[in-house]
Amino acid sequence: MDKDGTLIRDVPYNADPSKIELLTGVADGLRLLDSLGYAFFVITNQAGVAKGFFSEEALVDVEAKLQQLLGKSGVALSGFYYCPHHPEGAVQAYTKRCDCRKPSPGLLLKAAATYGINLGDSWMVGDILDDIEAGNRAGCKTMLIDGLGHERQKAHNGYRRPSYIADSFSEATDWIVKNTEHGKI
Ligand SMILES: [Mg+2]
Ligand SMILES: [Zn+2]
Repeated sequence: MDKDGTLIRDVPYNADPSKIELLTGVADGLRLLDSLGYAFFVITNQAGVAKGFFSEEALVDVEAKLQQLLGKSGVALSGFYYCPHHPEGAVQAYTKRCDCRKPSPGLLLKAAATYGINLGDSWMVGDILDDIEAGNRAGCKTMLIDGLGHERQKAHNGYRRPSYIADSFSEATDWIVKNTEHGKI
């Protein structure tokens, strides 16, 4: 799952835990998927590191806050993967082209290899088409949550075509539940 604008309210380049709020329907939706046996991984672009807005270490507290909020609903993330890079950064060490910044699928492939995840049985859930492209390139099913309709107006070609477009997190998880073969995962 993407983080900003998908699980939590999108505050651009935020690494302040006090500004992290789960979006409506996220806790209940994940609890439902948890009951089906899904494991949850965050796959997030954090170019704020490359741009010098916050340190890579700050993301430890971001993950902790997210785990804390989800934990209140009895849900845990199995992994938190971030790309700290950007091709036009301000911090030399993070300024590069990489294979982990979405729409590249590097972080999904890494999580799958580490945890033995079957990507074909997995969903990539996100709020922009870069999330969808990363998911499709990794071989996942893909869910675009586009409550405002912005991404719907763009071309959905090739890898940028979602398996399903939902208006809300709860619609997304309801669809995934309906399309999960029982006993398969
Ligand atoms: Mg997002
Ligand atoms: Zn990267």
